[in-house]
Amino acid sequence: ALDKSHLWHPFTQHRDWNAPEHEPLVLVEGEGALLRDSEGREYIDGNSSIWTNLHGHRHPKIDAAIRAQLDRVAHTSFLGFTHPLAAELARELVALWPANTLTRVFLSDDGSTAVEVALKMAVQFWQQNGHPERTRFIAFSGAYHGDTMGASSLGGISTFHGRFSAWQFPAEHVASVGALDTLDSTTIAAVVIEPLMQGAAGMRLWPRGMLAELRRWCDEHGVLLILDEVMTGFGRTGKMFACEHEGVIPDFIALAKGLTGGYLPLAATLTSERIFNAFLGGPDRTLYYGHSYTANQLGCAAALASLAIFREERVLEQLAGKIDLLARLLGKPRGQRYVAEVRQCGFMAGVELRRTEQEAFPADQFIGAKVCLAARRHGLLTRPIRDTIVLMPPYCINEAQIGGMVSALATAIREVCG
Ligand code: PMP
Repeated sequence: ALDKSHLWHPFTQHRDWNAPEHEPLVLVEGEGALLRDSEGREYIDGNSSIWTNLHGHRHPKIDAAIRAQLDRVAHTSFLGFTHPLAAELARELVALWPANTLTRVFLSDDGSTAVEVALKMAVQFWQQNGHPERTRFIAFSGAYHGDTMGASSLGGISTFHGRFSAWQFPAEHVASVGALDTLDSTTIAAVVIEPLMQGAAGMRLWPRGMLAELRRWCDEHGVLLILDEVMTGFGRTGKMFACEHEGVIPDFIALAKGLTGGYLPLAATLTSERIFNAFLGGPDRTLYYGHSYTANQLGCAAALASLAIFREERVLEQLAGKIDLLARLLGKPRGQRYVAEVRQCGFMAGVELRRTEQEAFPADQFIGAKVCLAARRHGLLTRPIRDTIVLMPPYCINEAQIGGMVSALATAIREVCG
């Protein structure tokens, strides 16, 4: 009742899903890949709590790291101050990349700001590097880079971004690397992309080799490359970062969501010495960006613990088998009626439902939302992007739970679609 009196929920508040049971679920506890509601019912967290949670809920090592930090201090300003956890975290993030590539780290709050920081750095880089004419940003059709006005200017999804277009800066969108050749590259500041898979667009896969092709295009034309690995980063694709699959190193990478293992809002934008030095050489040595909670000490403690778990629990090695299992199990819904396509990239997948191969379900039937509500009744929490159902569980999920997740989805699809 209090929720209804006072709270607004992102996107889901007033949507008529034609389903009386569309009530926000009251989640009160979690453990591993499971979440529990206020009535004691258990669910598989099939979306890792909106793609953030990596190692499960209440992981003892992250819990302990946050508790230990609470005994010291929870938060201190990063404007002219520092602390050991932030410095340690920066060193560890840099060490995930080949030597002398991405060596500079700016910490912020969430995925949107991590992207915006990269945009502002790119603007200032060109201003201070003798090319103030390089002002244009290019993104890809269907892109999602966050909901703040700057990040949403790059967005290519009309439902989310369209109505604000008069207030957004004029980013341009292309559908492929080839289309970049139609643009005047000398005025482009940077190209921004979600590598390998676009998430909010509906779990859409890029063709293999596309990212490497984009890197080559940027190099040829002197354009900066910003990778948004807010979703794909920290193991989601089976490697630590998606760009490793194509041997690409960006000029900027935006990281958030999984950075703290999904515990606290913290983000990082990494860039190179070359970009960083341009700031020092310019008349203005400052990056004009800063938030109150930058480098929050509890967030840094959680992030360090999450990275330690990757090493100590050999998370990526363990994940390889689970990625294969998910692929095998998804073969079943793949053959099911109304399942038009199953798209998987590492440990994330989208199951697209269509009335026929040629024809989507009418939008006002809210088939995706109804399937997710049915899945909820079968113990799976997931989310629709229109009629594509997203599966992106925590890495700690066990084999039986992966099976339970896929069969709950298959049952829900049968119940709703017939
Ligand atoms: N980039 C991508 C690829 C995302 O998926 C998201 C969030 N879904 C964001 C940026 C924005 O992150 P946040 O919601 O933490 O601001």
